[in-house]
Amino acid sequence: MPEDQKSLFRFERIACPVCGSDRSRVVGQRGGAAHHDGIGVQTSIVRCLQCTHLYPDPMPYPARDLDDLYTDTDAYFVNHNVEEKKRSGDALLREFETRLGGRGRFLDIGCGRGELLWAARASGWEYEGVDASSTYLAWGREHLGVEGRHGTVEDMRFPDAHFDAVTMGGVMEHLYDPAGTLAEVRRILRPGGLLWFDAPNESGLYARVGNLYMKLQGRDWCVNLAPTFPPYHVQGFTPASLLTLLARVGFEVISMQVEGEVCPATGTPSLRKRVEFEFSRLVNSIGRRFGSGIYMAALVRRLI
Ligand SMILES: [Zn+2]
Repeated sequence: MPEDQKSLFRFERIACPVCGSDRSRVVGQRGGAAHHDGIGVQTSIVRCLQCTHLYPDPMPYPARDLDDLYTDTDAYFVNHNVEEKKRSGDALLREFETRLGGRGRFLDIGCGRGELLWAARASGWEYEGVDASSTYLAWGREHLGVEGRHGTVEDMRFPDAHFDAVTMGGVMEHLYDPAGTLAEVRRILRPGGLLWFDAPNESGLYARVGNLYMKLQGRDWCVNLAPTFPPYHVQGFTPASLLTLLARVGFEVISMQVEGEVCPATGTPSLRKRVEFEFSRLVNSIGRRFGSGIYMAALVRRLI
């Protein structure tokens, strides 16, 4: 672990970011000395005893700027195909149109390389995108000709009830204050407006078996989150903690799926990693059958 990595973070004790409870139990250690390749800084992952949410405590906040963490576009989006994301974005916008009875104003939070902005432009929506990474925005400008704004959604100070539909793909698990950000999304969505988002399921069968696998090897490590190394996941939602948060902020759930696929290791993985990947894929496929997959996706509506 290079010393300069540690200087990217400042660590602070926190209460549960979803329900505010300070009663938690340690699930395991993650990163640094508690990682096979020693990447990141060692962090303690805890589970809230009230709402089941998982989070690092203390929380590693970016010491300077969020932009410092997200600087390598190809590495970050290694498992994401641009054309596929354009198509899935188009399908999502069509679902919004059906439910809302037409097009309107669309916002993509964490727009990354801009595939959804591309799809929104192609189908005639008015659109905005925001992303904390200037590197990803530059990629979108150069390759897709779309222009997102640099910063967080809170930075933008959009007017009240401005948007008809908002998406947050792969964003929730990166937020340092998920309740605050969702409240801001609620404010800028019109009453009855739609929000779609997804997030890893940290209580899925994959995570449970992975943590058991660590214990059986005599390690106090866990497989949940990645607070101090890419992809920098700092919030560990479970179906229960997600529903707690949505109810707290004032969203009505229209649909929620607990599915998803395990991502393959990148580069040329070792034999051990290849075996672990095949095993985790098998575990997740069993989990999916029982509604305990690795990923959750939800479509929700702003209550009046
Ligand atoms: Zn909680």
